Amino acid sequence: MLFTTYIPTRILFGAGQLAHLHEQKLPGRKALIVISAGKSVHATGALPRLEAELKTAGVASVVFAGIQPNPTKSSIMAGAARARAEGCDFVVGLGGGSSIDAAKAIALMAANPGDYWDYIASGSGKGLPIPHKPLPIVAITTTAGTGTEADPWTVVTKEDTNEKIGFGTDDTFPVLSVVDPELMRSIPAHLTAFQGFDALFHSTEGYFAKCATPVSDLFALKAIELIGQHLPTAVAEGGNLAAREGVALANTLAGLVESTSSCTSEHSLEHALSGHHPTLPHGAGLIMLSLAYYRHFAATGACDSRLIAMARALGRTEADKPLDFVEALADLQRRCGVAELKMSDYGITRAKIPQYIANARATMGGLFAVDPAPLSDADCAAILEESYR
Ligand SMILES: [Zn+2]
Repeated sequence: MLFTTYIPTRILFGAGQLAHLHEQKLPGRKALIVISAGKSVHATGALPRLEAELKTAGVASVVFAGIQPNPTKSSIMAGAARARAEGCDFVVGLGGGSSIDAAKAIALMAANPGDYWDYIASGSGKGLPIPHKPLPIVAITTTAGTGTEADPWTVVTKEDTNEKIGFGTDDTFPVLSVVDPELMRSIPAHLTAFQGFDALFHSTEGYFAKCATPVSDLFALKAIELIGQHLPTAVAEGGNLAAREGVALANTLAGLVESTSSCTSEHSLEHALSGHHPTLPHGAGLIMLSLAYYRHFAATGACDSRLIAMARALGRTEADKPLDFVEALADLQRRCGVAELKMSDYGITRAKIPQYIANARATMGGLFAVDPAPLSDADCAAILEESYR
């Protein structure tokens, strides 16, 4: 048994924790606060509260509000230029995965020369070494989906080439993360479901990946169990704090899975879809692919005991065959109102399936290497065809 675990993030978890931010040791004197371009961050009221917390702690701040749902390379470069111009010495991501991922990439580029894609190690990225340590990162999450507050990963899209690539180093872990479920009560039902399923798939992929470890297994099974218990209630009753807490905990644990194991090719295939069709929410893309994807691996016989354990964690205590997980997943999708999503609604076409597969291999090809069994291009095509509606 050989494994390494490294998670250098202090996590403040629980309802009301945002009010304790000023008591923490903050990593600088002037923060660039990164938020989305949309209205959702204002619905939580979190921005003025964050600014007041920083002020109480004697920290100055400026706001950069230019981040789209799938953050683009140009917005990262603009944010980094702003951080340099304002003399910021750390970056705070406030919002969902997009804002926090963007904060990480901005922190990297505020401290380093050239273009973000110079450092990206796959696709058309140059894979150059990073000369300087990124600025320190603080993450304040207002959604429960990406787990980015507990991992080093940032996903950015290069608009002109439709490349949506995950990247990160030991220095892009947040130094401090606040996970306050009170901030999550205003998330609309459909986004709660999309984000919750993203957290679920970080856990299921990380649990059946070939690189899973005894540590990631603990986080993954608990996260899957919490999603099964709490996601339908969080979707149906957004104001239910106990349900929001359960899903928030699942999401943070799922982030720890991403820090100790890895996502698999389900994420590569999804990034190809939302890389080409940026209006497709990441979680929705995963949901659309998931039944065919896990059915494929159930048929390989390569991960039977893992799929059975995941079915049991989702609440099927009598599960004794791999397809029980696919049934439990389909059932959870029905209970969360996301069983009828259609790829065609987002502009995805059957004719482009070979293009999506080539993109998945070129941009996120590394994840195929940790799949529980080899996945050929023909297998990928069959999964996409079966998922297409
Ligand atoms: Zn994801």
